[in-house]
Amino acid sequence: MSRYKLGARLTILFLGVISLAAAVSGCSQAPSDVVLEPANTTYYEGARVLVGNGEVIEDAVFSVVDGVFAAVGSSNAVDLPSGVSAVDLRGKTVMPAIVDAHVHLSTSRDALTQDLRRRAEQGISAALSLGSDGEDVPLEMRDELMPGAARYLSAGRGITMPEPGRTEVPHWVTSEAQARQAVRDEAARDVNFIKIWVDDRNGQYEKLSAELYSAIIDEAHQHNLKVFAHIFALEDAKGLLRAGIDVFAHGVRDQDIDDEFVALIRQRPEVILVPNLPSRGVPTDLSWLATSMSAEELMQLQAGNVERLEVQAAHGIQARNLARLSAAGMTIAMGTDGNTFWAPHVEMEDMVAAGMAAADVIVSATQNSANAVGLDDTGTIQTGKRADFIVLDANPLEAIENTRRISAVYLAGGLVDRSGR
Ligand SMILES: [Zn+2]
Repeated sequence: MSRYKLGARLTILFLGVISLAAAVSGCSQAPSDVVLEPANTTYYEGARVLVGNGEVIEDAVFSVVDGVFAAVGSSNAVDLPSGVSAVDLRGKTVMPAIVDAHVHLSTSRDALTQDLRRRAEQGISAALSLGSDGEDVPLEMRDELMPGAARYLSAGRGITMPEPGRTEVPHWVTSEAQARQAVRDEAARDVNFIKIWVDDRNGQYEKLSAELYSAIIDEAHQHNLKVFAHIFALEDAKGLLRAGIDVFAHGVRDQDIDDEFVALIRQRPEVILVPNLPSRGVPTDLSWLATSMSAEELMQLQAGNVERLEVQAAHGIQARNLARLSAAGMTIAMGTDGNTFWAPHVEMEDMVAAGMAAADVIVSATQNSANAVGLDDTGTIQTGKRADFIVLDANPLEAIENTRRISAVYLAGGLVDRSGR
């Protein structure tokens, strides 16, 4: 119903503009001579569609009305109205736009706008900033409609024990009263989530205690806010599960998980893992980024693109833990940490390298990540969802790196300008 209302309103707006234009130009054509489409509908046909929930539709037909998927199905099931022309996507694969469930983006208006545009060019429809937004500008920008840019969500300022020498943006708390007050302060800023860090940073600091994180989780839940936890150690991950944590923003990094942890996960099937794998520590092909950045930026990247043995060991632990939890049926989302606009494509490759099936990784980066960040209007190619999708030249189910072979990106039905800005 709201879609019909919007369409009607747009039609009236167009008529108004046309009448005004005719009056200004002295044109003799009356507005009634102009034939307007009743609704802004675009049809697409011929692609393989990865729905985002694990289903695949070969030779699909779908339509987009006012930025929302209207009909989606195989060419046998969905009829194109006679006389309409559809966008021909034969030979292409279409997948939902990606959601990045763990980033830390710029906090000034211009820089954040640029961060979100560059993500849109890479097929990313939304990103959740986890705890580094001390300023109000990023929170305000969540509600602004920016065509050709990813949507933005924020956990505001995260909460941790004092970490002198590190960023002072998060709340530093040492008592239960301070911990609860920090949650109330962030709730008053209308943040999307609460973020906590539970990490002694290699023995440098006292880490957030079970008493404090339990209070934070309890206070957050009283404000209907879910809690994302940065973790390092298995012991803390278990404590957090018992205390009601909602999402892990990293996997367990200090050791291989054990049977007790898997059992705790099975008791909390709603808990989501954003594995956020570290680099694999092996040189990778970066040539696909040549059209997305300056030659200088790419050269800097290439310089760090070398074999690193210590990184390989860290990756090994987290990769084994991810493979085990995925096999155990835990819901896996996708996040990249930091501010690297193209990182989701590498993270998806790393998740496959860890042992997940490409099909499962696509679901993680789309449907599951949308769920993790609380967006129920995107993440799958289904009737009623926002038309956020990527047209690929090759099938990522055959090789996950094919998510980089982007032909076009559409956000809310609008074609994203990828000509480089
Ligand atoms: Zn982070």
